[in-house]
Amino acid sequence: MRLETVTLTHVRIPLVEPFRISSGEVREKDAIIVGVYSGRYWGFGEASPMAGSFYSSDTPEGCWEDLKARIIPAMMAAECDSIAEWNERMDQVVASNFAKTGFETALWDMEAMRQGKSLHELVGGERERVESGLAVGLYETIDETLRAVERHLGGGGYKRVKLKIEPGRDVELIRAARKAFGAIPMFVDANGAYSLKDIDVFRQLDEFGLMMFEQPFPGPMLEELAELQAQVKTPICLDESLDSVEALERAVTLGSGRIANIKIQRVGGLYQARRLHDAARERGIPCWMGTMPELGVGSAQAAAMASLDNCLFPTDVEASSRWFVDDIVMPPLEVSDGMIELCNWKVDSAKVAQYAIALYTAAHRV
Ligand SMILES: [Mg+2]
Repeated sequence: MRLETVTLTHVRIPLVEPFRISSGEVREKDAIIVGVYSGRYWGFGEASPMAGSFYSSDTPEGCWEDLKARIIPAMMAAECDSIAEWNERMDQVVASNFAKTGFETALWDMEAMRQGKSLHELVGGERERVESGLAVGLYETIDETLRAVERHLGGGGYKRVKLKIEPGRDVELIRAARKAFGAIPMFVDANGAYSLKDIDVFRQLDEFGLMMFEQPFPGPMLEELAELQAQVKTPICLDESLDSVEALERAVTLGSGRIANIKIQRVGGLYQARRLHDAARERGIPCWMGTMPELGVGSAQAAAMASLDNCLFPTDVEASSRWFVDDIVMPPLEVSDGMIELCNWKVDSAKVAQYAIALYTAAHRV
């Protein structure tokens, strides 16, 4: 199979409210929607870096350049007959994983169309609905944070809440949240903002019965994470640390964490995400699917992956309206009673056009 046409659309949609974590703040959601077409079928994917290097050095502009100059020429010159073959070809391209994800997940979507299957069936999922958890960013004051949690918890009936923390906004915040919301399943995500000198913060947080400490130290600090894990009873969940199966294996060997947050964007697509999921299962490490968050195309893919059997914690995928003033899929993602019903979400091309700020098309001459 050869690809006949590939399209890129850079879209930008305002957030409902600014999203702040320990490394910065965003007010608009940028994404590059990749369309691939071959033999009567279209497929769509989303490269979803945050503007201005939020979690990583990846930016929308960098991904656009990677797609246009490196990924599209290589993939349009190739002839492949399976997702595995397309991935072998993609492995030879030097480009960011976010950019690769946009392209790779579009191929899965096209394959699902061709086979007449839902994406969650194609990836081997075992559930028709998946549990969604609320994630709440940083606010100026504890009161503002608690009000945000309260507002959003009620909206979707979420049964789990994850709170972002940073040095100076941690122990007192969780103490107040426990007081306000009782024994609700709760955990913290530090996005790597601490180091071993802060071990006392985690000893104190250890007393609140949290489900996990997500990424207390920066991604590469696997030895230090292992040292922390040896001193606290709360399981450490690795997020930024896990960009490959090799990183997961090293982390498990060192004892750096007991739970894996898999992000499709970070690992380079659904094929790699499934490899990570399977490797984690083999080593007894339960997973869940994280988000950037992505717009509807990427969120629907993460929700589909969350139906795999070793995804034992709720996904971070939330309702479209939780983060964005609008979305580019039909129907929008919804959470009811804390659950997302998996369905065949379709790209809404009118919405993509409405929020487009740049377009590019590559086609073979007929
Ligand atoms: Mg995280």
